[in-house]
Amino acid sequence: MKDFFNIRRTQLEQMDKLTRLRAPAKKKEIPANVFTACPKCGKSFTHQVWDENLYVCPECNKHLRLGVKARLNLIMDADYEFIDEPAEFRNPIDFPGYEEKWYKAYDNTDADEAIMFVKGNISQQSCIVGVMDTNFLMGSLGSIVGERIIKALDLATRERLPVIIFTASGGARMQEAIISLMQMRYVSDAVGKFQRAGGLYITVMTDPTTGGVTASYASLGNIILTEPGTLIAFAGPRVIRDTIKQELPEGFQTAEHLEKRGFIDRIIERKDMKKSLTELLKLHNSKQIKVEFSDADLEKTMCLKVDTKSSEQELDGLTAFGRVKKARDPDRISPKQVLEFLCSDIFELRGDRLYGDDRTICGGLATLGGLPITYIYTQKGDDLESRIKLNFGMPHPEGYRKARRLMQEAEIFGRPILTIIDTPGAYPGIGSENRGMGEALAQNLRFMSALKTPTIALITGEAGSGGAIALACTDKLFMLENAVYTILSPEGFATILWKDVSKVEEASANMRLTAQDMHDLKVCDQIFPDDLTGLREAIANTFNRLIEEKAN
Ligand SMILES: [Zn+2]
Repeated sequence: MKDFFNIRRTQLEQMDKLTRLRAPAKKKEIPANVFTACPKCGKSFTHQVWDENLYVCPECNKHLRLGVKARLNLIMDADYEFIDEPAEFRNPIDFPGYEEKWYKAYDNTDADEAIMFVKGNISQQSCIVGVMDTNFLMGSLGSIVGERIIKALDLATRERLPVIIFTASGGARMQEAIISLMQMRYVSDAVGKFQRAGGLYITVMTDPTTGGVTASYASLGNIILTEPGTLIAFAGPRVIRDTIKQELPEGFQTAEHLEKRGFIDRIIERKDMKKSLTELLKLHNSKQIKVEFSDADLEKTMCLKVDTKSSEQELDGLTAFGRVKKARDPDRISPKQVLEFLCSDIFELRGDRLYGDDRTICGGLATLGGLPITYIYTQKGDDLESRIKLNFGMPHPEGYRKARRLMQEAEIFGRPILTIIDTPGAYPGIGSENRGMGEALAQNLRFMSALKTPTIALITGEAGSGGAIALACTDKLFMLENAVYTILSPEGFATILWKDVSKVEEASANMRLTAQDMHDLKVCDQIFPDDLTGLREAIANTFNRLIEEKAN
C-alpha cells in the first residue's frame, strides 16, 4: 500500500512538472533595470537590453546560451507542444551521486532532461524541433536523451515531418559511462534511417557542441547551421591542452574556424535564425513540380552589360582567339550575375565536410520560376584582391567535393541541378595534388553522369579542361555565344604541340573551341546571346521536359 502511494505521488509530481512545462515560458523574475556583464567583453547591460537583444551582446556579438523555452520562443510559432514522455530518473550503472545531481538539474532548469522535443510550426511550416540545454548536466548524452531523439525521428518519419535539433552539449554523460557511449551508435543509426526514408534533418550547433554529440547526431545534418562564436569540437580545448601539452591557435574550434574548414553550411546570427530555417523548410516542402516563369519574367532580358554588347557584324568577323579574349574579359557577365538573373530565394551552403570551403565554387539552394533547385557556380572575383583570393577562378579539390555533396543532397530530395561555369581550369598546385585533385574530378564525372535528377550546365565564359567538365556532365549543356570550351588553354595547347606560346592564335583556330564549334561537334545543345535573351525560357522548358522524361 505504501508503494502504491509512492508511485502515485511520483506520477502526480510528474504531471505537475509536465503542466508547468507546457505553460508559456515565464520571463525570468529579474528586474529589468538590473545590470549584468557580458562574459566575453565584460560590458554591462540591463536585463531589458539583454532581453530585447535576444541575449546577444550589443558590444561584441557574443551569443549567450539559452534555455529550452527561450530558444523555442525565438524559433517556433506560438502553438507548439511538447511530445516527449515525462523523464523518469534512471541509473543504468548505479553510479553514486548521480540521482542527486539529476534532480538538482531537474529542479533548477525549465527542462526535464538535457533535450526536449516539440511538434509545431516555424512560420507555418510543420516540423519537429529538439532543443538541448547545457544547464541540464552539461547537456550530456544520457540514455533518456538518446531515446527521445530516436522517438522523435520515428514520429517524424511516420508523419513525414522535417526534424531540427539545436545541439548544446559537453558530450557523453559520464554517470552513464558505456551506456552513454552506446547512445552515439543508436542515435546515428536512427538519423540514417530517417534520412534514407527521405526525411530532412537540420542541426543547429549552439554553444558549446562537443564530444560524443559532435561525433554523432550534431554532425549528421543534411544542413548544419550554427551561431557566431559557437565552440564546436570533439575533444574540448582543455582536454587537448592536457593531453598533447600544446597551446591552441586563436579562434581554433570556433564556428568561424569550422566554417572555413568545410564542416558548417552557414553561420547565422540569432536574430536571423527563424527566417533562415523558414527559407530552408520552404525550399524542402515546396509542392511545386515544374518551373513556372511568369510572362513578365520571360520578357526580361539581361541588360547589365549593354555597353559591351557587340554588333552582329563585329561578332561575325571574330576569330577564334578573339572569342577567347571575349570569354576572358574581366567585365564579362559573371556566373553569379546569371544566377541572380535566373533565380530567387538564393540560400548559399558551404563546405565539403572534409577539408575546407573553396569559395571559387559556390553552391546552395534557390528557386527557379518557383521550383526549388540546387545551384553550383564558379567565380573569378571582381577586383584584384578577390581574384587573387579566388585563384583567378581555379578551384581546389574541396570545391569539387562541395559541389558533389550538394548534388548528392539534390538527388535525395529530387531537386534539378543548374551549374554555371566560367573557369580556366582546376587549380594546379602542391596542395591540390596532395588533396587528390584527380580523384575529386573523377568522382564528379562518375557521380554526375548517373544522376536521376535533371541537370543543366551553362558555360558563360571560359570552360577549361577537367576542372570544367567535372561540373558539366549534365543532361544538357548550354553556352553563351562568346563562351569557349577547351581541353586546355590555347596557350598551353600551342606550347605542347609546337613548343611556341606565340602560336596561340593558330592554336585557337585549330582546336575548335567556340560555342558554334561545340554545337557542330554535338557537345553543346543550345547557344544564347551574351545578353541572355531566351535563356530563362529555354532553361524552364528544358528542365520541365527533363523532369517528365527522367521520371519515366
Ligand atoms: Zn560582449
